[in-house]
Amino acid sequence: MLVQLKPGISANTVRAHLSTLGLWTRPLQNQSGETTSIEIVDPSPSVPTDTLLKIDGVLSVLSKPSAHPLLDAVNTETDRLEGYSISGSEPLLFAGPCSVEDENRIHRIARDVASVGAQFLRGGAFKPRTSPYEFNGLGEDALRWLRAAADAHHLKVVTEVLSERDAELVTTHADVLQIGSRNMQNFALLRTVGSMKKPVLLKRGRAATVHEWVLAGEHCMAAGAPLVVFCERGVRGFDSQMRNLLDLGSVALLRHEYNLPVIVDPSHATGRRDLIAPLSNAAFAAGACGAMVEYHPEPEFARSDAAQAIDLEDLRKIARDNHISKEISQ
Ligand code: PEP
Ligand code: MN
Repeated sequence: MLVQLKPGISANTVRAHLSTLGLWTRPLQNQSGETTSIEIVDPSPSVPTDTLLKIDGVLSVLSKPSAHPLLDAVNTETDRLEGYSISGSEPLLFAGPCSVEDENRIHRIARDVASVGAQFLRGGAFKPRTSPYEFNGLGEDALRWLRAAADAHHLKVVTEVLSERDAELVTTHADVLQIGSRNMQNFALLRTVGSMKKPVLLKRGRAATVHEWVLAGEHCMAAGAPLVVFCERGVRGFDSQMRNLLDLGSVALLRHEYNLPVIVDPSHATGRRDLIAPLSNAAFAAGACGAMVEYHPEPEFARSDAAQAIDLEDLRKIARDNHISKEISQ
């Protein structure tokens, strides 16, 4: 942003005023060495142009167009995700198995998830797996069971769209379309999923900067998604005791600087069931409006990601500690 000064005005006085607004500045001189304008530099907070124009001595304000105008228009106070607030005032819980395994079990899981007050049932039907020989989901059957189980317990469905080929099929069964970490910059998939005109849950790529993540969200919005909820799920770290490195700083940044809705997935971030409850609490403290956790009634027998699946007791504790309540939010 560039603040142009009225002729004869002291640039230092205007810079002092700008610094009281938390803005960092750099004076710019013309060819005669006079300071005629002031550049607002990063990491300054965003201040409305109107506020700047009211400062004594300011002639005009030039701003660069935002790289994410559609996300800038998201209002976390008034916009809603499937009827639920994304402001953080009514904490959201997304819970369910890593993969949908069989019909009876997903009904049992949906009942448990609803019983703790969670609003969203998660579960993979199309699974991205590191090895081609691992369980990779039950596809359309899983989607149908997931939908029916969620409906029976008044839950919303979130599940991953792994490829463009599955987008329409997943859209017919899900309320929120998940983009997995490995696909965060698969721009063709982002466009196809956005064009389904459903809310998108966008997981952060394992080596993505916050800026790249936000722009991936803008891709979804530009293609037609009504809302993007960002999901921090850990980035590649250097410590083998956890699967990834949970970046709670990015959560605070997205919520408090960008004013965007963000949730946290401590399950994939750590890969350890003992850390899911404390990190869910930390997520809300950092500014997340929700937590997404992998729950399984018999965690050690989960067909995928067993080590990070929590049991019902832990799920209840997370819901209780974070005042999760479907009743309040409807
Ligand atoms: C998932 O949530 O099922 C999943 C595969 O997560 P991620 O894309 O974050 O690895
Ligand atoms: Mn998983």
